Amino acid sequence: MTEYELIVDLHKLSERQGPGGISETDLAIQLAGLDKSQPLKIADIGCGTGVASIHLSRKLDAHITAVDNSSVFLDELRSRAEKKGVSDRISPLCSSMDALPFTENEFDVIWSEGAVYNIGFEVGISNWHRFIKPGGVLVVSEITWLTQYRPEDIDKYWQSSYTEIDLASAKIRVLEKHGYQPIAYFTLPEHCWTDNYYVPLQHSFSDFLQRHCNIPDAVAIVEAEQEEILMYEKYHAYFSYGVYIAKKLGSE
Ligand code: SAH
Repeated sequence: MTEYELIVDLHKLSERQGPGGISETDLAIQLAGLDKSQPLKIADIGCGTGVASIHLSRKLDAHITAVDNSSVFLDELRSRAEKKGVSDRISPLCSSMDALPFTENEFDVIWSEGAVYNIGFEVGISNWHRFIKPGGVLVVSEITWLTQYRPEDIDKYWQSSYTEIDLASAKIRVLEKHGYQPIAYFTLPEHCWTDNYYVPLQHSFSDFLQRHCNIPDAVAIVEAEQEEILMYEKYHAYFSYGVYIAKKLGSE
């Protein structure tokens, strides 16, 4: 297996592949002004094994196009959606988020949790803009500094993996620059990182290493995850995911 395949193998059995929470998804739904009063077309971009897609499909009168470039995650999503009885409301789509085969104004909502960093926030939100109907909404979570100043250690750690990490004020400006009207912003609380993401991930390490006979590549992946967890434990006062909710400008 390649390093990428190993990473997918480590994460595919988890409920979610990044920090988040059902109550936080619900808060975003509410702040975006979404409810069951009208049928919605939603794209969930970088959906992983589908925690948000499945929730959105149950909570709203919605059809979800669930996009990921990992067919392994999408297979897992298919079986989860089937178990929850919502497979008729979710269409999995294997595609890269920077080459989406969508048409202009196709969606009422573009949703993306913990995923846009893969192509960068600015490229992502500007490319996706044309797929949203005027008056439609974008809900996107993005790694965000919580303070203007922070210890050098954590600054270097994040800058080396994601140079676009920034303050919420900067992210909001990027949204405004690309034709969105920001309508709400909140940060993910600690339990979204720990109880919902890191704790289950840590529980999966020993089975993962056993499955892969402790090969060096697998050990290195676990070590990198452990380093990320340590950095979070030490420095969580300085960063989190921000959840940005913004309307596409234009007449409805
Ligand atoms: N939204 C999910 C998964 C977040 S992890 C959750 O909150 O649990 C980020 C996801 O983005 C992974 O599923 C990964 O496979 C996907 N991804 C990474 N690069 C991508 C790309 N270029 N195009 C589409 N999906 C991508």
